[in-house]
Amino acid sequence: MKVTVIGSGYVGLVTALCFAEIGHQVVAVESNSRKLRQLQRGNATIHERFVPELLKRHLLKGIRFTSSIADGMQSPDAVFVCVGTPSAPNGASDLSGVFDAIRDIASHLRKYTVIVEKSTVAVGTGDKIQTCLLQKGGADPSLFSVACNPEFLREGSAVNDFLEPDRIVLGTDDSRARDVLRELYRPLIDGDYAATSRSFKPLHRSSKVVIETSVKSAELIKHASNAFLATRISFINAIANIAEATGADIDQVAAGVGADPRIGSQFLSPGIGFGGSCFPKDVDELRRIAERNGFCFDLLAEVQRINAGQRQRFLDKLKSAIGALAGRKFAVLGLSFKGATDDVRCSPALAIVKRLLEEGALVSAYDPAAIDNARHELLSSRIEFASSSYAAISGADALLILTDWPDFACLDLHRVRKLLASPIVVDGRNLYRPDEMHGAGLHYISIGRAAVSATTDAEPARITRIATEAIDLPAVNG
Ligand code: NAD
Repeated sequence: MKVTVIGSGYVGLVTALCFAEIGHQVVAVESNSRKLRQLQRGNATIHERFVPELLKRHLLKGIRFTSSIADGMQSPDAVFVCVGTPSAPNGASDLSGVFDAIRDIASHLRKYTVIVEKSTVAVGTGDKIQTCLLQKGGADPSLFSVACNPEFLREGSAVNDFLEPDRIVLGTDDSRARDVLRELYRPLIDGDYAATSRSFKPLHRSSKVVIETSVKSAELIKHASNAFLATRISFINAIANIAEATGADIDQVAAGVGADPRIGSQFLSPGIGFGGSCFPKDVDELRRIAERNGFCFDLLAEVQRINAGQRQRFLDKLKSAIGALAGRKFAVLGLSFKGATDDVRCSPALAIVKRLLEEGALVSAYDPAAIDNARHELLSSRIEFASSSYAAISGADALLILTDWPDFACLDLHRVRKLLASPIVVDGRNLYRPDEMHGAGLHYISIGRAAVSATTDAEPARITRIATEAIDLPAVNG
């Protein structure tokens, strides 16, 4: 089938490449000329596993990139709108990019096309798109249907999530559009793709569920899903704070809570709070949607309050360990909003680094993929970007772990001890066991667990890892 994808960011690029991978002819329209040139040359614009391989495999065969909507609209069966919907200054999602794209599409409709919202949009946006196409775009109503196919991929495992989804939500209000979407996703729904693909064996087998809904329900599913996940993170962070205050251990508590199949173990990792381009924006937007509809969703305000508090608590712990921050040098490991991505949008790590710099600290930061993106956000003479974890740590007054990159969970702790000017580690992602840090002679402060001192002979809080090892704990926070 012929597919057009508008926007080649984290979602659009993965969507376009994966549709090519399952056998469709794809045109990807991207308005940013720098990104476009890079993609036309076959260079990945995001740090995402399998994207370089898919680009190499499909460029100019199953996929091509263009800046021209007219070029993209040569009788596609479906057009997927994957442009950004960032928070506007008033906190609401800015849908101007979506409606710009819709107006462009309207003037080029020549045959029946399904116009699919893949960007995350407020419930009811489908109706507005329909009106926009008819009134402002002047499109013939027999030439299109509006559908919503929300995207659930996670940065860091986006290609795998797309090709081996745990669910595919097809939101349509007419059978013609539903048939087109079913046919587009057929290789994934029937399992034909997984059966024949040699290069992209799914990391896990899941039972694919196709959920067919109305457009409005699909729109609301996406916001409800993200807000629910964000709520779990804030919930476990609140429990971690109680654990810290009472001497309980959050690892043990989370393992005990998550073992209940009605609850499950995912998204029960405490930390410095959720971030990224989706959760903060989507929680905010769902609150507004509720308000507009006469319902006060204060639970979400609390989720946001707890989330912001986690960063402050991290800084407070650092200050109580080291005193005033001005003039002290901190090694920071991690700048992206979570591991395995170069995305720094609304990164809690970046927010903490900004606070350190504002308070006069010196920072030596390392991240495996996000330094280029972070550089634009951290314009200070007091920050330097290191070439490795150990280079960042060398001579620092404390090590701060801010992102859950796998590399940061397997440091040589004795080397860390030797490189640090003072043996303090504040871990915002609980990547280590307190007893191993104690064993390496490090003063270790983490989230929801007793701090262990570098010098005391007292037995550090014993950590029962059995449960947490048996349960595959997910990537942290977002
Ligand atoms: P992004 O900012 O990375 O990508 C958007 C791209 O669209 C940019 O490259 C931009 O240049 C391009 N663009 C904007 N207007 C255009 C136009 N008129 N024509 C052509 N190109 C245009 O954003 P993203 O992270 O890919 O997110 C896109 C949407 O998907 C958002 O609504 C987001 O909430 C949602 N979403 C994101 C994720 C995620 O993990 N990033 C996951 C699920 C859903």
